[in-house]
Amino acid sequence: MENRPPLHIVIFGRPGSGKSSLAERLGEAHGFAMIRTGELLREAVRRGDALGTQIEELLAAGRLVPDDLVGEVLAWNLSVLRRDRLLFDGFPRTIGQIPLLRRLEELVDFRVDYYVEIAVSAAEAVARMEGRRVCPSCGATYHVRKNPPAAEGICDKDGTALVRRADDAPDVLGVRQQVYETQTGPVVEYYRTALPDRFLRIDGEQSFEAVSADLERALGLAS
Ligand code: ADP
Repeated sequence: MENRPPLHIVIFGRPGSGKSSLAERLGEAHGFAMIRTGELLREAVRRGDALGTQIEELLAAGRLVPDDLVGEVLAWNLSVLRRDRLLFDGFPRTIGQIPLLRRLEELVDFRVDYYVEIAVSAAEAVARMEGRRVCPSCGATYHVRKNPPAAEGICDKDGTALVRRADDAPDVLGVRQQVYETQTGPVVEYYRTALPDRFLRIDGEQSFEAVSADLERALGLAS
């Protein structure tokens, strides 16, 4: 196994910023283990356990899940958190989750190296979300025009029929943008001012390839 430095990254971006597709690309190219709270929460809904039943309506309405429940799903994944390259996608998402991340850093003994914001306007984000499709089986994300699968409506990775996420329904898009601005905006602002040396802002309105290249360069991962 090649000798590579450990790297821990938190990635922020409004719904529709391309954050999750970028994280996926980065993860595959550079061996990051992913911590995606949205995906972990949707898995709980699919399992239909006590947590899943509790949060199903919140997810479908585009609202956030309470901090303590997010802490719970993260605690179930402690073994993943011990990997040397970690990418947090969708966490921390509220001011209340900042101390939760601090506790994980202490508990698992790592330090987040970079807090990255993928910056996109609300108008562009909404346009993108309208075309987003996901694989209900593996969680891969596509866009009907900007990032289509090889065969229309079918996941490239496992052949499952793609779907529109419940929280991508037209009436929920606006709510999610607003939730991002009011709840997560202050978290981004916190890291930008508290840790300016570890904060990176990437212009997310370029092509996917260009954003991805900027991100790799900013993280020192460009080959
Ligand atoms: P997106 O970033 O496009 O909204 P995610 O998959 O990251 O998609 O999140 C989907 C949903 O999961 C959110 O709208 C929210 O309800 C819930 N969620 C994800 N992460 C968190 C978190 N850290 N705290 C609270 N709720 C979360």
